[in-house]
Amino acid sequence: MKKQFFKLLLMPMILVCLALCPVANAANKIKVVTALPDLASITQAIGGDKVEVFSIGKGYQDPHFIPPKPSFIVKLKNAQMLVRVGLGLDIWLDSLIRSSGNPKIYFGAPGYVDASIGIPVLEFPNRKIDRSLGDIHALGNPHYWLDPVNAKYISADIVAGLKRVDPADGAYFDQRRMMFLKELANKLTGWIHQAAPLKGVRVISYHDSWPYFERRFGLKVVGFIEPKPGIPPTPKHTQYLIQLVRQENVKLIMMEPYYLSSTPKMIAAATGAKVIVVPPSVGGVPGANDYFSLFDTILNRLLTNLPKK
Ligand SMILES: [Zn+2]
Repeated sequence: MKKQFFKLLLMPMILVCLALCPVANAANKIKVVTALPDLASITQAIGGDKVEVFSIGKGYQDPHFIPPKPSFIVKLKNAQMLVRVGLGLDIWLDSLIRSSGNPKIYFGAPGYVDASIGIPVLEFPNRKIDRSLGDIHALGNPHYWLDPVNAKYISADIVAGLKRVDPADGAYFDQRRMMFLKELANKLTGWIHQAAPLKGVRVISYHDSWPYFERRFGLKVVGFIEPKPGIPPTPKHTQYLIQLVRQENVKLIMMEPYYLSSTPKMIAAATGAKVIVVPPSVGGVPGANDYFSLFDTILNRLLTNLPKK
């Protein structure tokens, strides 16, 4: 009789546990908020099942201008770690962080990670910072994740942050980072081989998103549709670009998914160059689902649109 009673008691307990355990498991995960999906992808790869990652910016949005939403403040309020791009790209985060009232992710706190630390920054300004010029790259070019080699620095910053927040799982994060970098190195060998036909190919791009990619994969970006980063195209600058495209024999116009296509199309119509949408971030177009497939997608889009010789 007693045995029967315990059986009866045990069954509901098991059922309750089965129902609640996944919730408890999720509650134990380190809640990480990232500025961009590229940082989310790398954080997820390293953090494995110890992290729950949310990216505020989406790959189809201009990373310089992410519109704030109250739900982002809630995410930041509950976060134990924040991973930002830095170099002035995500200054839109600052007011969200302040509004969250969460000291765990304030500048200098254990949960604050600036993924640009250690990056050899390109286009570092050798002049006085002057935002009146509308320059949103005032601290150097912030699109550094577009060189896979820079993931070495990004992942080191992320692991350091995860270890500050969760020192007990330090070895787990180190091991996963090593696996991630090994896989990335293998992929990079393939990408470099695949990108051989891009060497020296002259292109123009809408925004100055590509200097890190350009240096690694051999493209040559000769001009930008924006007269300066963040400044919309003007008729005078567009006329200059039409001349440039003809002079430099540019065949491709790279456009990030979040810009209006009118000016690129106008230049294409005047010159015979082709406009292609190329995502600079994970989630920018279908297929670019994580940090690895982002590079697969960029390279495929460039290579399949390369004019036949
Ligand atoms: Zn930019």
